[in-house]
Amino acid sequence: PGAARQVLDGVYAHSPPGVAKFNDVVVASGQGCWVNTTDGRRFLDFSSGIGVVSTGHCHPAVVEAVRQQAGKIVHAQQNVFGAHEPLIDLYDKLSAVLPPSLDSYFLANSGSEAVDNALKIARAATGRQNVIAFEGSFHGRTLGALSVTNSKYIYRRGFGPLPSGVVVAPYPYCLHCKAQCATCHSGYPSVARQGQQQPPEADCCGGPLESLELLLATQSSPSDTAAVIIEPILGEGGFLTPPPGFLASVRRLCSKHGIMMIVDEVQAGAGRTGRWWGHQHWLPEGGEQQYGSSNSSNTNSIIGADGGPDMLIFAKGIASGYPLAGLAVRRGLVGADRMPPGTLGGTYGGNAVACAAAAATIDVIQREGLLANAEARGAQLRAGLAAIAAELPAGLIADIRGRGLMVGLEFGGRSEGGSSSGAGCDGKGGCGSGEGGCGSGSSKPSRFTPASKGVAAAITQACGARGMLLLSAGVREC
Ligand code: PMP
Repeated sequence: PGAARQVLDGVYAHSPPGVAKFNDVVVASGQGCWVNTTDGRRFLDFSSGIGVVSTGHCHPAVVEAVRQQAGKIVHAQQNVFGAHEPLIDLYDKLSAVLPPSLDSYFLANSGSEAVDNALKIARAATGRQNVIAFEGSFHGRTLGALSVTNSKYIYRRGFGPLPSGVVVAPYPYCLHCKAQCATCHSGYPSVARQGQQQPPEADCCGGPLESLELLLATQSSPSDTAAVIIEPILGEGGFLTPPPGFLASVRRLCSKHGIMMIVDEVQAGAGRTGRWWGHQHWLPEGGEQQYGSSNSSNTNSIIGADGGPDMLIFAKGIASGYPLAGLAVRRGLVGADRMPPGTLGGTYGGNAVACAAAAATIDVIQREGLLANAEARGAQLRAGLAAIAAELPAGLIADIRGRGLMVGLEFGGRSEGGSSSGAGCDGKGGCGSGEGGCGSGSSKPSRFTPASKGVAAAITQACGARGMLLLSAGVREC
C-alpha cells in the first residue's frame, strides 16, 4: 500500500481535483466482475466502470475481436472512407437490437458527444429551439449536454452561460412524493412493500405530468419545443424508476405536439436492466398505439408514429469499455434537407477497434443470455439487500429499487402514515417538485425521512475497504 500511495501521489500531483476519485487504488487487471490492484488486492466491481463493462472486464470474445481488428486497421476515418468491416458488422447487429423505427445511426466517442448531436438533430429536424429536460437528469459534461444536466449544481456552477432554450420539468420521485398519493406509495418497489404489484397504467399523483403540461402552456410553447430528453431510469440522479404510465404519457404528449422524444439510454441501455433498452420496460415495442388526436398540433407524421422514442442515445455498455457512443433516430428526421453532409461528424467516431468491440459485445450479450442473466442476478441482488435491510434497525434503508442489474438503495426512514386519502397531503406537493393533485387511494401511505448527508458516501467507502466497489448517486449526494 505504501508504494501504491507514492505512485498515486505522483499521479494526483498532475490531476486536477475536478476529476473525482472514489477509490485510491492502482489497477493492474480485471476479469469478469473482479478488479485486481498492483498491491495484490481484489475488488468485486459493482461499479462496472459506471455501468460500462456489460460483458465483464476483458471478456475473451471482446478481447479477441479487439486484438484482431487492431492488427488490421485501427483508424479508417468515417469521412474519408465509406465504411469499414467492423462498422458494417456493427450496423447489422445494432439493427437487430434497436427499435426498428430508429433506422439511422450516428456514432460518436462518448455519451456527452452523442447527446450534443441529439440536441442539434432535434433542433434541425423540427425547426424549433427549446428542449425540455428533467430534474435530476445527467446527460454529460460538454456544454450542450451540460445544458440539459440537472443532477447536481457542481456540474454547472461557474461554467455558464450554457446553451439556452432548456426548460426543466420534475422527474417522478415517488419515494419523496409530498402528496403521499396511494399510487406512488403502494406501487413503489420499496423495502417495506416488496412484491406488491404496480398498477398497470397509472401516473402516480399526476404531479410531474401536470408540470410538464404546465411548462408547455407557460414557458415553452409546443411550437417552440423541439424535444423532450429523458433517462428511462434516472441514473446519476438516484436510480429512479418512473411510475408505470409515465413514459407512455410523455410519449403521448410529445406525439400530440410534434415534439421529439429522446431517450438517453447511456446508463440504462445495452442490456443492463434485463431488456436491451431501459425504456422497453414501459413503452410499447411499436405499432401498438396510435398517438396524436384530431386536435393534435403534430404536423410531423414521423414523430412518435409507433409509440416508441424518436431518438435513442447509447454509449457505456454497448462496447464493454471501448469508447463508442451513438444515437439512433428515425431516418426521416435526419434527411439531407435537414442535416446536409458535414453537419454530423468527428475524427474518431465509429473507430474500427471500438466498432469491433461493440459488435463483439452485442454478440456476447445475445449468445450468453445476458439479458436474462441481468434480470436473474438483479432479482438475487435485490432479494439479498432486502434480507439485509430486514435485519437492520428501521430507518436506515428506505428503498431498494431498479430494474435488472441497475440497482440502487436509498438510505433514510419510512414510517406509516394514517389516513387512507393521503396522510400529510398538503394538496400541492406532487411527485418531484411540481404542483400535483393528491391521489386518493385505499392503502396507507408512508412518510419518508432522508438520511443525513454523507451516509451513502460513508457506506460506499466502508464497502471499498471490504473489497466491494460501489458508487453513490442522487441529487443530494455529492
Ligand atoms: N447520459 C447519461 C444518462 C449518463 O449517465 C452519462 C454518463 N454518466 C452521460 C450521458 C455522459 O456520458 P459520457 O460520460 O460518456 O460523456
